[in-house]
Amino acid sequence: MTATNQSKPVDISFLNGGGEMGELIRSKDWSATSLNSPAQWPAALRYSVSMMLSTKFPVLICWGKEYIQLYNDAFRPILGVNKHPQAVGNSAKFTYLEIWESIKPMFEDVMSGQSVSATDFKVSLNRNGYLEDCYFDFSYSPIKDEKGEPGGILVICMETTDKYRAIDGFHAMNEEMTAINEELAAANEEMAATNEELASVNEELLTTQVSLSRSEKLFKSIALNIPNSLIIMIDKDHRFITIEGDIMEKMGYDSKNYAGKHPTEVGPPERYEASRHLYERVMSGERFSVPRKSSTGEDYMVHFVPIKNEADEIDAGLIIALDVTDIKQAEKKSAMLAAIIESSDDAIISKTLESVITSWNDSAERMFGYKADEIIGETIYKLIPPDRQDEEPKILGQLKGGERVEHFETKRLTKDGKLLDVSLSISPVKDSEGNIIGLSKIARDITERKLDETRKNDFIGMVSHELKTPLTSLNALIQVANAKLKNSGDTFLEGAMAKASMQVKRMTGMINGFLNISRLEAGKILIEKHPFEIRDLIQDILDETKLIISSHIINSFDCDSISVNADRDKISSVVSNLISNAIKYSPQGKLIEVCCRLSGDKVIVSVKDEGMGIEPYDLNKIFDRYYRVEATHTRHIAGFGIGLYLSAEIIKRHDGEIWAESESGKGSTFYFSLPIAG
Ligand code: ADP
Repeated sequence: MTATNQSKPVDISFLNGGGEMGELIRSKDWSATSLNSPAQWPAALRYSVSMMLSTKFPVLICWGKEYIQLYNDAFRPILGVNKHPQAVGNSAKFTYLEIWESIKPMFEDVMSGQSVSATDFKVSLNRNGYLEDCYFDFSYSPIKDEKGEPGGILVICMETTDKYRAIDGFHAMNEEMTAINEELAAANEEMAATNEELASVNEELLTTQVSLSRSEKLFKSIALNIPNSLIIMIDKDHRFITIEGDIMEKMGYDSKNYAGKHPTEVGPPERYEASRHLYERVMSGERFSVPRKSSTGEDYMVHFVPIKNEADEIDAGLIIALDVTDIKQAEKKSAMLAAIIESSDDAIISKTLESVITSWNDSAERMFGYKADEIIGETIYKLIPPDRQDEEPKILGQLKGGERVEHFETKRLTKDGKLLDVSLSISPVKDSEGNIIGLSKIARDITERKLDETRKNDFIGMVSHELKTPLTSLNALIQVANAKLKNSGDTFLEGAMAKASMQVKRMTGMINGFLNISRLEAGKILIEKHPFEIRDLIQDILDETKLIISSHIINSFDCDSISVNADRDKISSVVSNLISNAIKYSPQGKLIEVCCRLSGDKVIVSVKDEGMGIEPYDLNKIFDRYYRVEATHTRHIAGFGIGLYLSAEIIKRHDGEIWAESESGKGSTFYFSLPIAG
């Protein structure tokens, strides 16, 4: 400071404020520079500095030819620690030595009066002890003095390095990103390839899984569909792979999940020990079966099957347990049946629905002379005499239609051509669903019995015939005696003769019955059919009966005029027999009703009584030959049990039917039907 200056106070109020830089500028000794002291600064500089200090934007002022620098707080970061604060009052050339060559032309241009500006101007500055690329937006304007000449430069400068760095970083990042992206794309491609591989592996897995689950289901359904079975699969360590079947619980396996478990984990160790040697055998490749009996009596057959993998190694064991109790019992039964069949005295033959013989027992061999191996496979027609060949198709038709074939007597041919009398019974052989798959035939040789019967019938016929002759004479004698006694007035003898006549009639009836039987058996009964009114026949019989019977009330009802074509005498004997039975088997004074009525193309004749009736058991048998009801109340009633048999045979030969309805103790009604005359 000089005395001159002291005499004239220096106004530096323009340097008021301005932050730290204001302070620094005020306190700086400017005498070492061409600017001397702020008080002597030209007005343009002063104004500029004042404006600079009051603004928040980075502003630098370079004054004079040396470009002495002044700047504000906001400009300091642009200079950095390497240049600030030495830059204040120092020449721009030295401060920016490293970039001077690039900015000098601009300084000179401004000092020549031009304004210069640039954006994102790049310079390499050493402001923090090292060179760094910095970017600036700036405007350089000349500060003109009082004469209008540029005395300095006003630099407004905004650093854009950060933006640039960010952009650079962004670019670098972008590049990196691109590289990464490329890498990613490559990785993606790899991934896609891997994915494809995975997808195909997945597909394979899925197919394997599907086929596995199918196999599992199949296994389960096979196991469950084999009735009375248990199927177990074990692995090398005897662990259960799977176990299924409808007799699981029955065999002591409850419905726990056994998969993957060892037998000792799910059951008593003793049980495993008992089966271990079997597991070992199957896993060593042996295929075998063992019978087992349970404590509750069931029979099981257990099959062990080794299972090999693709490499031909045994990796599982299949154990199939089947409950064979029923089969065993059936075997026993069929063995018993076979023994019965073999030991039977009857010929037991089975044949197909095509009449081919399929089995032949010992008795069949004895009876017909053929050995089993020479007749099995042959047709049954070999045993049927030529005149009876039509019997077989009839029997087959009946059986196929679901009808039973009752016992019937016929003749069959032996190997040596002898005719045998046989009683046949034929039954259908059905499968478990009830379909007829064959026929079984039991043949009994009744030749001897037939011979006996013939002999007996011949004898009865002969005796009856012999008895008939004296009886006819006796009857004639009684008739003559009766005629002579008519007006004798001897009532006793008259009555005695009438009774004798009745007894002779009864006896004649009985003898006729026996004669008829023997004729019938010998096939000698002749049916001579002629049309007649059934009503008239009934009336004649009733009239005749009423003449000699006064013990019962006998009536006929509802008899229509119906003509039948039949053997009048034979039908007459049937009606008479039914009426005489009604009288025999009902108490005195009771009503007997005889009716005949039309039913479709038949006439039905009925004889109803109010007698003792017949038990259901006997009702089925009263039409059999010699059958009589054995009861205390029938014992005293005379008879041989041939009347209904003969009646039934006569009706049968007329293509009619005979039957009875009865209630024990209340009475019976006998019916027969005959076709009406066409
Ligand atoms: P019988 O000579 O014994 O009468 P039948 O063949 O005529 O022979 O009758 C067979 C059996 O049927 C008789 O023994 C009798 O027990 C029974 N019977 C027949 N008719 C009647 C009837 N109207 N009421 C009760 N039982 C009867």
